[in-house]
Order: sequence, then C-alpha cells, then structure tokens
Amino acid sequence: MDLPVDEWKSYVLKKWSLLPLSIQVTVSTAKSLSAIFLQCSSHLQPEDEIFLKRLSSSYLVEKDPDAPLFYREEGNRKFQRKDYKGATVLYSKGISHSRPNTEDISLCYANRSAALFHLGQYEVCLKDIIRAQIHGYPERLQPKMMLRKAECLVALGRLQEANQSIGELESYFTATPTLAASHFQILQRNLCHLKIKVQEKETLTETFPVALTDVFKDMNLQEENEQISSASSSVTLCTDPLKGRYLVATKDILPGELLVKEDAFVSVLNPGEMPQVHHGLESKWDTRVTNGDLHCHRCLKHTLATVPCDGCSYAKYCSQECMQQAWELYHSIECALGGILLTLGIFCHTALRSTLLARFEDTGRVIRKLCHEFSYQDIYLPEKKNEKKTLYYDLEENEENGKIVETPISGCNINGKYENNYNAIFSLLPHTENHSPEHKFLCAFSVAALCRHLEAASFQALMPGLKSSKLKAVMTPMLSPELNIWGVAMLRHMLQLQCNAQAITTIRQTGSRESVITDSRQVRLATGLFPVVSLLNHSCSPNTSVAFINTAATVQASQQIVKGQEILHCYGPHESRMDVAERQQKLRSQYFFECNCPACQNEKHRTTARPRWEAFCCNSCRATMQGDDVLSCGSRSCTESVSRDHLVSRLQGLQRQVGVAQKLLRSGKLEQAIQQLLECQRDAESFLSAEHIVVGRIEDDLAQAYAALGDWGMSATHLQKSLRMVEVRHGPSSIEMGHELFKLAQVFFNGFAIPEALNTIQKAEKVLSVHYGPWNDEIQELQKMKSCLLDLPPIPVGPSV
Ligand SMILES: [Zn+2]
Ligand SMILES: [Zn+2]
Ligand SMILES: [Zn+2]
Ligand SMILES: [Zn+2]
Repeated sequence: MDLPVDEWKSYVLKKWSLLPLSIQVTVSTAKSLSAIFLQCSSHLQPEDEIFLKRLSSSYLVEKDPDAPLFYREEGNRKFQRKDYKGATVLYSKGISHSRPNTEDISLCYANRSAALFHLGQYEVCLKDIIRAQIHGYPERLQPKMMLRKAECLVALGRLQEANQSIGELESYFTATPTLAASHFQILQRNLCHLKIKVQEKETLTETFPVALTDVFKDMNLQEENEQISSASSSVTLCTDPLKGRYLVATKDILPGELLVKEDAFVSVLNPGEMPQVHHGLESKWDTRVTNGDLHCHRCLKHTLATVPCDGCSYAKYCSQECMQQAWELYHSIECALGGILLTLGIFCHTALRSTLLARFEDTGRVIRKLCHEFSYQDIYLPEKKNEKKTLYYDLEENEENGKIVETPISGCNINGKYENNYNAIFSLLPHTENHSPEHKFLCAFSVAALCRHLEAASFQALMPGLKSSKLKAVMTPMLSPELNIWGVAMLRHMLQLQCNAQAITTIRQTGSRESVITDSRQVRLATGLFPVVSLLNHSCSPNTSVAFINTAATVQASQQIVKGQEILHCYGPHESRMDVAERQQKLRSQYFFECNCPACQNEKHRTTARPRWEAFCCNSCRATMQGDDVLSCGSRSCTESVSRDHLVSRLQGLQRQVGVAQKLLRSGKLEQAIQQLLECQRDAESFLSAEHIVVGRIEDDLAQAYAALGDWGMSATHLQKSLRMVEVRHGPSSIEMGHELFKLAQVFFNGFAIPEALNTIQKAEKVLSVHYGPWNDEIQELQKMKSCLLDLPPIPVGPSV
C-alpha cells in the first residue's frame, strides 16, 4: 500500500532486470538523486504509460452516472433493516458519484438526512436537509423534508425555529390541496404529534446538557519551545555525528507531560482496502466501508456526512470548507490523478503532495534548494564530489549579505529555529546509499511516470519563479526541466518516507453492535510527515507515547524522564510485541540501524530465550519447559521432555478451537461459546504457561460472553485474570493495560459494583491519560461513567459484583 501495487512493481522490476549491466551499475553507485532520477526516467517508454493507465483504470475514482441509484437502493435496504449507520455510508457513496444539482444528489442527501435523524445526529441532519434543497430537491417531496427539519429543531431544543418551520409547513398544506389524500393525512397526523412535542418541551426547563467534549479544554503545551516549533520548552534539540539529531530533556519530566503537539506537514488518507477484482458476476460497485467513507480526505476528521469533490468520486470531505481548502492546496492537481495515485501507492502520493504544499512557502528558497540538488553535484561544483559528503541542504542562503553560511543543525533556519515547514521536511535523510538499486529504480521510475501525467504547463503556472534556461543543457529531452526538478524532489521524499513516514492511527471500536463490552483496535488512517516528531530516535522500550487527533500528533512522556535523558519513541518494534531478533531485523531492513537500546542489550545477553507469555509448561508439574528443539522440564525433580514441534501443533489446534468459540460468541450462541471456551481453558492449562497470550485471550472471550449474558460477576472475574496477564506482558502503565482497565470499568459499571467501578475508572483514567489527550473517546466515556455513579443516590446495601 505504501509502495506501488504488485502488478506495477513486478513490471518495473522486470524492466530493471533487462537493463544493461552498465546502467544498473550507474544507478547503484550514483551518489546524487538527480543522476539516479535522470537515468531511470530516460527508460520510460510510451508502452509503460499505457500499462500504468490500464492498471489505474480498475479504480472507481470517477463519477459513474449509474452508481447513485444503485447505492441509494442498497442504502434503502439497510435503512429498512434499521442499520442506519450502514445506510448512511451507502448514501454517501451515492452522493460521491452524483453530479452537482441533479435529482440523484438531492435524493441521496435527503435519504442520508433521514438516516442521520435516526442516529440522533440532528445537527448534521439539518445540514443534509439544506444540501438536498440546494441541489434541487423535488417539490412533490417537500413536506416530508420540512417535517423532518421541524423534528430536528425540536430535538435540538431550538423551539422558536421549530415553530416557524411548523408554520411554514401548515401554510404549505393550505396552499397545496393537490397532495394525494392518504399522503396528506399521514403528514397532517405527524404534524399534530410534533406540535404536542413542542408544547411538552416548552413546559420543561430549557436547560440542555452541554456536550461533554466542550467541557474539556483543548490540550496544549505548557510553554512552547523557542527553538523548535510545536515542542515544549522541556526539551532541546541536539546533534551528534553518529546519532544525528535528537531531543533531550532540559528538566525533569513527569509521566503524562505533553512534549510535542504538531500538525502534520503533509498527510494522505490511507484508502483502506483495495478494490475487489470483479469478474462480471458481482456488482462493479463496492459496498464496503473504507477510511475514505468515514474520514475527511483533508483533515481526517471522523464524519458520517461527507461532502464529495465535484470532479471525482474518491475525495470526500467533512465540510465545504475542507473541500475548498484541499482544492486550493493540492486537489486541483490531484483530482484527475486518482487512479494513478492509487496504483503508485501512498508514498508516491505523499511525495507529490509535499511538493505541492512546498509552493506555498517562500518559492525562491524552495527553488534554490531544489537547484542545489542539481548544481552542487552535477553541474557547477564537480570538485565537491570527492569531499566527504556534505549535507548540502544545510546551506541556507543568507538573504542579507548573500553569503552562504552553514546553520548549526540541518533543517533549522538561519536563526537556528527548527520549524514545521518544507525546509525541515527537505532536511530529513533519504538514505540514498542504503536503499537497494532495485528499490531506487522502482521509486524513480514510478515518479517519472507520475511526472508524465502532470502537465508541464500547470507546473510552470504554479511555479512562476522557476527559470529553466540554466538547467536545460544538462537535462534529457524526455521530461521538461521543470518536471525533472520536481521529479528529483519527489524521489527524495519517496526515499525519506521509508524511515520518516508516520502512520496516523485511530482507535476503532470493534465487535458487534450489540456487544456490551466495547473492544477497540488500532487502525491505520493515514500516512504523514511530522518534522518535529521525526527528530525522536527509536527505543524498543520508549519513554513516550504518540497519539493522534485528526492530523495532529501528540507526544506525551509515558514515564518519568530525568533532566539530560534522551526523549525516545518506538518506531513500531516494541519489546512487548516482538522478540529481540525480530526487532533487530525490522529496524535494520527498514530503518538501516542496529538498535542498542537497553531492552535490546538486556535481551541479547539473556539466556532464557522466550518470554513468559510464549512459554510452554510441564504437563505433570507445571514448571516452565526449557530448550530448543526438545524441551525438558525446568524442575530438577521432574524428567518430562517433549519435542517443540509437538507443542507447537497442539498450540495451533487450541487456537483453532478458540476461533470456533469466537464464532459462536459472535453469532450470539453464548452458552455454547462458554462451554467451548472452558474446554479450551482446560486444554491450555495442561501445556501453556499461566501467562500465555492464548490463555489471556480465552479469559477475555469468557468475560465478553458472560457480559453478554448479563452475568457481570463472572465477567469481572475473568477480565481480572486477563488483566493480570496484560500487566505481565505490557507493564502496568501501558496502553494495553489502559484498554483492559477500561473494559473492566464497563463491567463493574454495568453490574452496579459502585466502589469497584469508581476504583477501576480512576486507574483506567490514570493510565490512559498518560498516553492520550483528554479528547480520547475512552477517557470521555470514563468521565461520563464516573459522573453518573457519583450522581446516584446513596444505596444502603448495593448489589456487588
Ligand atoms: Zn475536514
Ligand atoms: Zn476530485
Ligand atoms: Zn531496541
Ligand atoms: Zn515437570
């Protein structure tokens, strides 16, 4: 998904394998990106473009005039089954395929407003009603819509406006006696009901609870750093020839302190699942729900009521404003390229968007930077080649005296300030020498193919300051000089992304709609570049936690950090999720370094190879089994031994059985699920350690099953066992522990075990707030539970779990 689709990848790699050896050597050994790009792009042939076009045509990115009716009917089917959320998404898909000012689009908006009404989303419902009207909602259907509008206003407590709408509706009825009689009667009756509702509401006190989200103030940095934008004054930027740039604590930092709050310089929504390959049998339209159906294409905000781009079907936004901004910033160029960008992958897309955003900064500076890429290494200063590779992008032109000075730390401006801008993005290392030649060819060739689709003319219009005459001489005639410069910049970003891309994640609640305990799963929402977050080095046992709210990243201390200590975060391979060999392999291949963090050093020297949560135990005495191919009991008085293969296949069998139980659980066969899980538990006890991951999963599922039965006591017992295992594996203040405590709080809350619930809520809040800001859904839910429990009248003898 980051890289181009497989078909394109293998096509390009085949091309690479057929190149003469001399050219392969040139690409392998070239030090400058411009040399690599020019070499690779010169091999782009018309047939390659035809092949790319063919691949990209399989994506549904254009508006299809037949789609709105299909999606509206599918939506109506879900609506009838009372799946209003599902219906909303399908109507949104219908909207995204409709042209503006058509009956199609107005009907889809109107139907979506009905679904949103049932979901209690009255504000957005009103917006959709207005949208339906703007696009020409048919006159014959007006009364239904006016009635819904009045109902929304009543629900929102906007009674004056509601009364006005009701008045309009009444005069509409008197003016239009031609309405079908039966239809007329139904509407009249609904109107009467509504009038009664208004009267009832008016007699009630007019206070409405303030939305809980408004109570919480936005989380902000205590004091902003003068040297690094978006960072707190508790950190400082250092540099070292071995480590590069890194952040260090300037004072003692407490757990939970916010250290960085940064908006992405660039972010690209992850399209989610790839299109299904259709063989003419099933429908050509996709009814699955993807990231693009639930999140704004620009600001990533979660929304059920998206507004589509007028020109394509894949870009959908949270609001008209976001749509307009995206259009001005980048979408006017990207709109027609949807299929190409999906084929070439997110890295290529992010690279393009970075360069498009660059033009809003000091254009002259950006161009000089890009020209440096050429001039320093290819044209003007060939003697520099033999020098130790200087970081030529460190050079900033001093505007005042025209002298070139070197700033102390790369990416900083002339005053030594590091900001979230294109300058900082450009300074991120592409690690050109570490990538394989095939990878460099794939990236450069893909960028060259993308450049072909970008009209040179449009770029010239965007970059009026770009003088091409100087560069013309050295360029190949394949692409215009302007596009070559942009191509090199994009190639640089594409290579940077492998080490610097940040996956923007969100917590999505999983499980069926009916399940009582909400379980959550982290999903990747987008890919972004955050220059300040990029300053953090990696540790497998980091001292910070990174979280996201829309396109902003926050870095909070997850433990105490003493003055002078380095601020570290985890790039993915965390000590509680991967063993040391796996982590080292991942960090070496993706990030090109050997990890020497304390966790890695400890594990390298440890003799017992496997952690407790993966250990097998003795069938007869329960001691931990040790060894590699043949395991023997760790207890001296016991002589049990067994082959690893045997235990591994038993474990696989057990996992299959747990899978069967989960299926039963999902289909609501609770008693059967519990029976199956208890059997699995007995089996697990005979060969797995008490803290084994699978044992924990069984406990968790049992808790879920008992909760669904309403047996809160049993549910809490099992959840507490699972909690202890999560603590062993991930530590008492880990995110995983926070999620598990949240579940336990829900169970106690539902079981009215008030002291236990309050106690667990407090613990969960404490752990989660170290990792997330106050806007986090789970933290808000905990607050609601707490205030609800504290508002309860004191009960003398409370039923307890
Ligand atoms: Zn938005
Ligand atoms: Zn578009
Ligand atoms: Zn490590
Ligand atoms: Zn034994």
